[in-house]
Amino acid sequence: MITALWFRRDLRIEDSSLLAHASGVVLPLFIFDPALIDPLPEEDRRVAHIQNAVAKLKADLKAIGLNLAIVTGDPVAIFTQLKMQGVTQVLAAPDYDPYARKRDRAAGEVLPLHLINDCYLYDPDEIRTQSGGFYRVFTPFYRRSLAILCPGHSDERIRSDALTLAEHDYGPDRPCTPIDDPLPRLAHIIPDYPTARDFPALEATGHLSVSLRFGTTGIRQIARHLKALQERGHKVAPLWRQLIWREFYAQLLFHHPLSASEDLTPLNIEWSQPDEKFQRWQVGQTGFPIIDAAMRQLLQTGWMPNRARMVTASFLCKDLLIHWTHGEAHFGRYLMDYDAAQNVGGWQWAAGTGADAQPFVRIFNPWLQSKRYDPEGAYIRRWVPELAHLEANALHDPIKLAALSPPGYPDPIVDHAHAARRAQQLFKERKR
Ligand SMILES: Cc1cc2nc3c(=O)[nH]c(=O)nc-3n(C[C@H](O)[C@H](O)[C@H](O)COP(=O)(O)OP(=O)(O)OC[C@H]3O[C@@H](n4cnc5c(N)ncnc54)[C@H](O)[C@@H]3O)c2cc1C
Repeated sequence: MITALWFRRDLRIEDSSLLAHASGVVLPLFIFDPALIDPLPEEDRRVAHIQNAVAKLKADLKAIGLNLAIVTGDPVAIFTQLKMQGVTQVLAAPDYDPYARKRDRAAGEVLPLHLINDCYLYDPDEIRTQSGGFYRVFTPFYRRSLAILCPGHSDERIRSDALTLAEHDYGPDRPCTPIDDPLPRLAHIIPDYPTARDFPALEATGHLSVSLRFGTTGIRQIARHLKALQERGHKVAPLWRQLIWREFYAQLLFHHPLSASEDLTPLNIEWSQPDEKFQRWQVGQTGFPIIDAAMRQLLQTGWMPNRARMVTASFLCKDLLIHWTHGEAHFGRYLMDYDAAQNVGGWQWAAGTGADAQPFVRIFNPWLQSKRYDPEGAYIRRWVPELAHLEANALHDPIKLAALSPPGYPDPIVDHAHAARRAQQLFKERKR
């Protein structure tokens, strides 16, 4: 009997559910799925990151007497080959992305596929309302998550030392570089996190999302690290709350898979078709300095701070009246930490089509947002060099900016005040 250990979003050997649950003869495996990789250009920083993480996983597995078969192909076809080679079952951590669930169902028809939670603290059906249903609103979900939290949620999964490597052509070693460990910086950012996290120039957040997305650092490792910091007097609750947002959106997508592409709360608004304004939003040429800084940062680095994600998403949905799915796809194409559950959750929240019933229409004013969260304009200057020489107050004021007419920088593509009034009216009319 050979058990294949299919690593996907858990690319590490420490605290690994797969290595803890496995026994007997194992065949560790990573599959490059063409359905996911082919649409991306060859020179893609996310693909490069995965390749490095996979090469590192192979090296780490070898250091403990195992190895990693790295293959490219349709998982169903690969499962068929594995079956012919004597593999009798496959262990993997679940992935709630609708494509992944469909793929797993198909692969599971070929070989028994056992899914063991690894990427989240809670199983998707663990946090329930009193009537046994699932939460659509964050705060009660959060309270319930705290009420049921126990050591078992974050205990280290101890690797079985009784694993034997299956005979297989594992391929050559691959060069790799060290992978960022986000844990050491948490003690530094936690004291100011509640006040500083929204200021994009300060880089004052945990930078945990890429590690969590690929599982190079696991959620249980982060949870235990935060607990240790708490015992040393750090106030970790605000960061913990954000990590529970991640759990919340994961269970939401799990229970509402159609929400990956459809409104959870349909508003029946006549959305505009993506046009030239949409293209200018994508490349950071809207004439709104904070929007352009964020969109250019995304293109150049694959990263955008949370506050900037909220402001740019609101701008697309409310100022340009473009449906959130277009923005979600653009973020999905470029974000290093792209995760369907989180991205869809964030976009539906910004669009007002999400799970939480908003008692008001949420519209961010880009000028006020930058004035409040980038008062000196450091973030804007960094990503929009055409504006680097301007006084901060011109960066947050459309009239002052227009008067200066900085060379090479476009006029605003909409009048925010007018667009906000239009959205306010439309959204109010359409609300349940
Ligand atoms: C429109 C939009 C799209 C988004 N797309 C993604 C995405 O594709 N992938 C992704 O991981 N996050 C996404 N987020 C959530 C959030 O912006 C990022 O998780 C966060 O910016 C990552 O930075 P960090 O690790 O430094 O966060 P920190 O502030 O240090 O937070 C720690 C962790 O908590 C979780 N978290 C924090 N904020 C949120 C949030 N608002 N929603 C859900 N989880 C959160 C993340 O796992 C994060 O890594 C999106 C938010 C919005 C508004």
